[in-house]
Amino acid sequence: MALKLCLNGAKGRMGQAVLAAAEGAGLHVCAAIDVGDATGPAIAACDVIVDFSSHRATESLIAAATQHGKPLVIGTTGHSAEDKARLRPLAAAIPCVWAGNFSVGVNLLFALTRRATQVLGGDYDVEVLEMHHRFKKDAPSGTAARLLEIILEERQLNESALRHGRHGITGERSPSEVGIHALRGGDVVGDHTVMFAALGERLELTHKASDRGIFARGAVRAAQWVVTQPPGVYDMQDVLGLT
Ligand code: NAD
Repeated sequence: MALKLCLNGAKGRMGQAVLAAAEGAGLHVCAAIDVGDATGPAIAACDVIVDFSSHRATESLIAAATQHGKPLVIGTTGHSAEDKARLRPLAAAIPCVWAGNFSVGVNLLFALTRRATQVLGGDYDVEVLEMHHRFKKDAPSGTAARLLEIILEERQLNESALRHGRHGITGERSPSEVGIHALRGGDVVGDHTVMFAALGERLELTHKASDRGIFARGAVRAAQWVVTQPPGVYDMQDVLGLT
């Protein structure tokens, strides 16, 4: 029997893309809800919830999913670090995939950024650049924030490695000096670049999304995956087996 999906934020750009992707993957969208609609009956009737709405909706959505014991895929971005720290333990009561970006290419960019940061160390100035369409509400994007997190995680690892004398990594910039830049304009679906610049060379890792269908298909894949998982918070790296 087809998996029954409840879609929150159904009238939005991503909502519409998820509707098409779910249909393409043979899922049954049993409820397509948006702001002002009752969530309880829609959630009670589904096998899995997919959310691309507003960060303001996340807390009540997690509560409703938990109350009905339904797996949840959160694609919405724009949460503060405090919000994430507070909400993630609540989401761990159910199987939940929470990812700032569902594209396979971007998830590979995360892995490549981690590797490049490990290899290049502190000698390189690092800048994260992102550009999105003029309607995007949050800045920087969830993806840019995740790229920054990865770089800082690795630089802290490097710093502790340096303190313990295992690697010859040098550099005067502190990890907090990594720059992050958000550009807004036109209909850009989502561009992300991580730039590593040293004296004499520059490495740029760039991903450009031209169709939001990539995020929608990834979210549908996450929905199919999460229904077989035990409670816990996962990301797209887990869905793709990249961890
Ligand atoms: P959008 O503004 O086009 O659509 C958002 C929809 O959510 C609207 O229809 C709006 O009415 C609805 N909504 C707002 N508050 C709501 C609430 N409380 N309950 C239910 N519905 C509500 O935005 P979009 O471009 O579709 O993006 C939606 C979210 O998805 C954003 O946070 C965006 O950054 C994020 N996004 C994530 C990914 C990813 O891969 N994770 C990719 C693209 C966009």
